[in-house]
Amino acid sequence: MRVKGSVDIGVTVSLSSSLLPSYAAHPHRRALVLGGSSEARALATQIAADPRLDGVISLAGRTSAPMAHDLPTRVGGFGGVEGLARYLVEERISHVVDATHPFAARISANARAACAAAGTPLLVLTRPPWIAAQGDRWTEVDDNAAAARALGAAPRRVFLAIGRQGVADFRVAPQHDYILRVIEPPQAADLPPSCEVIFGRGPFALEDEIALMRDRRIEIVVTKNSGGALAYAKIEAARALGLDVVMIARPASADAATTHSIDAAMAFLAS
Ligand code: NAP
Repeated sequence: MRVKGSVDIGVTVSLSSSLLPSYAAHPHRRALVLGGSSEARALATQIAADPRLDGVISLAGRTSAPMAHDLPTRVGGFGGVEGLARYLVEERISHVVDATHPFAARISANARAACAAAGTPLLVLTRPPWIAAQGDRWTEVDDNAAAARALGAAPRRVFLAIGRQGVADFRVAPQHDYILRVIEPPQAADLPPSCEVIFGRGPFALEDEIALMRDRRIEIVVTKNSGGALAYAKIEAARALGLDVVMIARPASADAATTHSIDAAMAFLAS
C-alpha cells in the first residue's frame, strides 16, 4: 500500500506505509490524569516516558507549592460536570484516569458523569484501603461527625491526621486537646478551642511518628482510611504504642472500572 503525504514546501511525495509505523500503530492517545495523589504522580512519570502517549495532569490547587510532575500540569477546578465534559472535548482527551485521593468524592463523581457525557473511557486508579492487623485497636466510623463522637465524653489528647479539610467537624467535641497535622495553614475559625497545628508533608518515617505521638502524649489517633504505604507509618506507630485509632471509612463511590495497578492503568491508556 502507498500513502500520500504533503510537506510544507508544497511538494507532494509518496511514502511507503512502512515509513509511518508510529502513525499507523499508534492512533491519537491523549490522557487526562486527575491527580493529587502519589499514584497520579507515578502514572504521570510513566506516561511522560511512553512515546505512544501524550497527556496532561490536573490538580485542584489546594496546596500553594504543589509537587512537580513529569507531565504538563493544569491547576484548578473545571467548573463541575459540564466544564469537565467540555474540557474533554476541547482538549481531545481520549482516556481519563481518575487517580485522585480516595476521599476526593466530588471530582470522582464529576469524572464519571463527564466521561459518560463525552463518551470518554474512564479508569479509576486508587490504593487498596488499610485493613486492621493484629494489635490494631480501631474504631471504624463512617465520617468526621461519627469520628468526633467516637472520641468519647472524657477529655483526651487526640492526633488529628486528617488534613485541614474537615477539622471544623471536631469543634462539637471541644473537651479534647487536638494536635492537627497539615500541609497548608487551616482557617483559625475552623479549629477546636484547644488545637496545636503542626506542619508536615508525608511520607513520614515510623520512628518519627512514634516520637511525635510520645512527645505530644497522644492517646488516640483519628485518620482517614486513605490506604497506601506512604501514609501507613502513623498506623504502625499507634499499634506499636498500643493507642486507639478512629478510622474513617472511605466515602461511597459510584461504579466505575477500578484498578490498584499503574501497569493496568498504562495498558488502559494504550488500549
Ligand atoms: P473534591 O471535594 O472531590 O472536589 C471538589 C472540587 O475541586 C471538584 O468539584 C473540582 O472542582 C475540584 N477538583 C478536585 N480535584 C481536582 C483535580 N484533580 N483537578 C481539577 N479540579 C479538581 O476534592 P477534595 O477532597 O477537595 O480534594 C482536592 C484534591 O486534593 C484532589 O485532587 C485530591 O486528589 C487531593 N487530595 C485530597 C485529599 C482528601 O482527603 N480529600 C487528600 C489528599 C489529596 P470543579 O467542580 O470546579 O471541577
